[in-house]
Amino acid sequence: MARPQNAREAWHALVEGNHNFVAGTPAHPRQDADVRRAIANKQKPFAALFGCADSRLAAEMIFDVGLGDLFVVRNAGQVIAETILGSLEFAVEVLKVPLIMVLGHDECGAVRAAMDASSGKLEVEGEFIHNLVDRMMPTLERSHAAGETSIDDITARHVADTIAELLERSKVISSAVKTGKLAVVGANYKLELGDIHMVVSHGDL
Ligand SMILES: [Zn+2]
Repeated sequence: MARPQNAREAWHALVEGNHNFVAGTPAHPRQDADVRRAIANKQKPFAALFGCADSRLAAEMIFDVGLGDLFVVRNAGQVIAETILGSLEFAVEVLKVPLIMVLGHDECGAVRAAMDASSGKLEVEGEFIHNLVDRMMPTLERSHAAGETSIDDITARHVADTIAELLERSKVISSAVKTGKLAVVGANYKLELGDIHMVVSHGDL
């Protein structure tokens, strides 16, 4: 595979790698000592991924890529925060990735926690767990208003809202999309099948 040079090629490389993973025939590319040494002085990832920290959402595995391929940012429930925005701006402005993928997944514990919190059933003590869940409440409210009750619908809306917030808050990222240097794709990952499905996209793919 030639190194992806733009958003379309980056998206196709990720889809192709994911097909390998789903089929159980991963190529495990670019994971050897030669590659490790060759890129020690400079990284040139072809995409950034902002995904849930769920242990089953192992980015390089599910997309069958290697060292230096993906700039990965993750937290529980892929919830926007200033450090997340800074990391993604770094990927776009300094590393010049042509693609950001925001990746949610089915049966997300953080989405479930937000659903429980909205119905007064969240039973955890951690102050910062509550803080993280609170940040998902506007999405829960919009889902509620739209009559969406399934976790899948809420998760898809959360991915779309996360990207909307990313584009609204980061001028670097929204102008890169406007000038055609960057595309932002939202996708959902299925834990059992291991496949991804596009939820939303901004920019040319
Ligand atoms: Zn999750």
